[in-house]
Amino acid sequence: MLEISNYINGDFVESTSKLQLDVIDPSSAKVYGKMPSSNKDDIELAVQAAEKALPNWKNSTLAFRSKILQNIADLIENNAEDLARAESKDNGKPISLAAKVDIPRAAQNFSFFAKAITQFSSEAHESSGLQSINFTLRKPIGIVGCISPWNLPLYLFTWKIAPALAAGNCVVAKPSEVTPVTAFMLSKICIEAGLPKGVLNIVHGLGPAVGNALVKHPKIKAISFTGGTATGKHIATEAAPQFKKLSLELGGKNPNLIFADCDYSKMLATTVKSSFANQGQICLCGSRIFVEKSIYEQFKKDFINEVKKLKVGHPAEKSTNLGALVSKAHLEKVESYVQQIKHQNAKLLHGGNRVKVKDYEDGFYFEPTVIEVQSNTCALNQEEIFGPVVTIMPFKDETEALHLANESPYGLSATLWTQNIDRAMRLSQELETGIVWVNTWLNRDLRTPFGGTKQSGVGREGGLEALRFFTEPKNICIAYNQHP
Ligand code: NAD
Repeated sequence: MLEISNYINGDFVESTSKLQLDVIDPSSAKVYGKMPSSNKDDIELAVQAAEKALPNWKNSTLAFRSKILQNIADLIENNAEDLARAESKDNGKPISLAAKVDIPRAAQNFSFFAKAITQFSSEAHESSGLQSINFTLRKPIGIVGCISPWNLPLYLFTWKIAPALAAGNCVVAKPSEVTPVTAFMLSKICIEAGLPKGVLNIVHGLGPAVGNALVKHPKIKAISFTGGTATGKHIATEAAPQFKKLSLELGGKNPNLIFADCDYSKMLATTVKSSFANQGQICLCGSRIFVEKSIYEQFKKDFINEVKKLKVGHPAEKSTNLGALVSKAHLEKVESYVQQIKHQNAKLLHGGNRVKVKDYEDGFYFEPTVIEVQSNTCALNQEEIFGPVVTIMPFKDETEALHLANESPYGLSATLWTQNIDRAMRLSQELETGIVWVNTWLNRDLRTPFGGTKQSGVGREGGLEALRFFTEPKNICIAYNQHP
């Protein structure tokens, strides 16, 4: 049985509460490990460790910090197979996806910021005529909190931790209680990489206990959070009285706009991926598909043919396209949305049922599901389902397509399929989302800003934006006399 511990002050420790939670394999519903159910006392210990480590870490040379981060990246790469297997088992995602995307990206997050921090420098401005020079320094904030979700566990955990550490902060981090395993493996890697004690502390447990204590702790000066919109609102409310710096990466209900003049075969193949990759449990999945009327019937037929070819299976099988959903609770939530079809004047075109995978009948499997909706304002199109469920609906022209896309409480990403450059330029500027992909999907360059508008979040991470978030700008203005 796997035993997960907290990682505080460079040591593996159990929770002060001695309470534990089950670690569940979603592919079989079996318990295969135990993890600490921590509380605010454990957060207090983590903050004390971070406080002790902070002076040395923030004053360390860039070369030292960069070297440690690169060591972590190298060790993630060296352990990539074990990490991918662990991620796939803990989350239910196909092993191929964990091996190709999640784990390589976790390593890249560290190697990217190992280099980026050496190029991130202060600015100086000559204020001409005023005989003064302004310096803007970027100081570490101090102790920061990082809270991450279960859908891309190590990928998103490291996406926050790497820039926070690179910028000279000490970190108290909380991975999702649903997928704690690779964060635990990362703590072992950090020790081997030579990360000084207390610089990173990882506290496992439930959101309302551990996450909330982290957000409320007065010595935590900034919170980087990725997760659901409801949790984000709660965190913003808790953090507001202390004026904490916040980065909130929240939910999405992303439109996928398909015009008749698109590169059809590329669009079709990519749309299958953007609908069902990671069982649709990526905040960037294109869960609302809008198709120009003239190709709507053709698209419907071709798309469903492609979806029928997808194999739902055990995550460890190389041929699996869709593994298990992350938990029983999540499976039930996804299913409950599909059951609303009849009340929402919608039509089930494909899927809609649980799947029994041979030898793993209790696992949390669900068919890739396609629903035709009559209206964009129904719950199926307005609420985030975050599973293998997409809706499709026709539009008549560009104006209507834009209206449908923007008629949403969310604003994370949008995908646009057209070969008309003028239309691509017009729409990409008018779409109310933080990210727009034209003729591609999930094409991410780590230098670019990442984040959403409206209920999809506040602030940006990625590239220099992450280093800006994790530093406090300080302006120093020095006046001088022109003549001796
Ligand atoms: P969640 O909000 O339930 O949990 C996210 C994290 O917050 C977990 O670690 C959880 O323990 C913690 N948490 C829960 N309650 C808390 C509280 N009261 N105080 C502090 N922390 C608390 O989200 P989830 O179900 O793990 O993840 C799915 C959601 O994440 C989806 O909505 C998805 O769209 C979103 N997401 C967004 C992005 C993005 O970049 N915008 C990326 C991935 C996932």
